[in-house]
Amino acid sequence: MEEILHAPQRGARSEGTARGAAADLLRRLRCGIENQAANGWKMVNPGSFLAVAAAVGILSVLTSVYATGCVVSVDGVRLGAVASQADFEKVVERVEDRATRILGHDYTLDQEITYDTALLERDEIGPASRFETVLFDQIGEVMKSYVLKVDGQVIGAVEDEAEVTALLDTIKAPYINDATTSVEFTSNVVVSHEYTSSDVNQDVAAMEEILTANTNGETVYEVQAGDTFMQIAIDNGMTMRELEALNPDVDVDRIYIGQLLTVKEEIPFLSVRTVDRLTYEQAIECPVEQVEDSSMYQGDSKVLDPGVEGQSLVTADVIYVNGKEQERDVVETTVLSEPTAKVIAVGTKERPSWMPKGYFIWPVYGNITSYFGYRSIFGSYSYHGGLDIAAPYGTGIAAADGGTVVFAGTASGSNWSYGKLVIVDHGNGKQSYYGHCSSILVSAGDHVYQGQTIARVGSTGRSTGNHCHFEVRINGTRVNPLSYLN
Ligand SMILES: [Zn+2]
Repeated sequence: MEEILHAPQRGARSEGTARGAAADLLRRLRCGIENQAANGWKMVNPGSFLAVAAAVGILSVLTSVYATGCVVSVDGVRLGAVASQADFEKVVERVEDRATRILGHDYTLDQEITYDTALLERDEIGPASRFETVLFDQIGEVMKSYVLKVDGQVIGAVEDEAEVTALLDTIKAPYINDATTSVEFTSNVVVSHEYTSSDVNQDVAAMEEILTANTNGETVYEVQAGDTFMQIAIDNGMTMRELEALNPDVDVDRIYIGQLLTVKEEIPFLSVRTVDRLTYEQAIECPVEQVEDSSMYQGDSKVLDPGVEGQSLVTADVIYVNGKEQERDVVETTVLSEPTAKVIAVGTKERPSWMPKGYFIWPVYGNITSYFGYRSIFGSYSYHGGLDIAAPYGTGIAAADGGTVVFAGTASGSNWSYGKLVIVDHGNGKQSYYGHCSSILVSAGDHVYQGQTIARVGSTGRSTGNHCHFEVRINGTRVNPLSYLN
């Protein structure tokens, strides 16, 4: 076969070779048959064919070069030759199945396919599968395009791959800076060149809208010292009502440090995870050295030497999702300067019971009728320097911590509104106030222990009902008592 195909390079290809003779024979055969019957190939009589072939004596050549095949035409246009009609019909079936899957409804090729059995040159006959793509491309309702899928969901399709690449880059862009070393979507984003229904979304702007749309998610917020329910709502872009709705079991007037609240979190449809490699200086904390001091009470301490912080140069990979830091992996730390020790003297002398413990207990238990901070009274805001705890008349008021009474009596002058007032000094610039009392049980100069009843609830001074106005002052400044109460 090799010789037959490649040997005669000189002169006309059909002259003087077995193949040329066979082609010549076939041509004559075709003519004869066509003359006999206009129907053509179907009418080839194998008997007469073999007889002629035998006569010529090149039967072996003929059977190796020619074979019976099936010529397929689509809408009257000759497509090519395959081994059999059944082979091609299998391809048609596959194309229809594929189109049905893509379009989501039964699809049948509407082209007219005709088959003609013919005696053909062997190498003209090829596998039917080679026409699958050609056939498929003729389906108008299906197009080949770049399909964008997010977690398997089809977002849209475009003909130009650059368009979808640009769209994805646009979404990533806000999170990329010079330090960014990696950027990826947290969802599985796939762009594939494939067949899809031509009615799929092809509008890039509409695709962008889908990808950047926010869905309302939820996250957990831990209440911090000084927080108010209203401020938490504002910080999370919510109204008080919305925050209440998300936390139906929470008493908005009694939130406490460490309490977990559900807050709104806007999550974009497509989230971007970036890694920035950052290098920055970081302080190294001073190691603490304790020195016992028998002249100081147990639990008291005094800094003898604050020490000097060290410095280190840190290189870290900071991982963000939508620009919010999630994690920080330190890659390298170089110490620039070592810290020096912080020396603290700690007391060992036994503590008398009235000595402050360093934390506050609630002076009375009851509903908080007014919080620290700005409050609305008759539509206008005013500042409230303490915490109002409602309790029945005569309820004992406990000292929030041990200390020394520095004032006990009816407040006067600019302080008149406190009514009957007790002020306890807890040392270190810390004082607690108990206002509007009905009666007072201690005197200035008394030492009181934590929990000791020092007064009784009333409504003296500027007050509209029985309650204890509890105030905490640090170096004379009023602070939110909720941040200090245990
Ligand atoms: Zn008050």
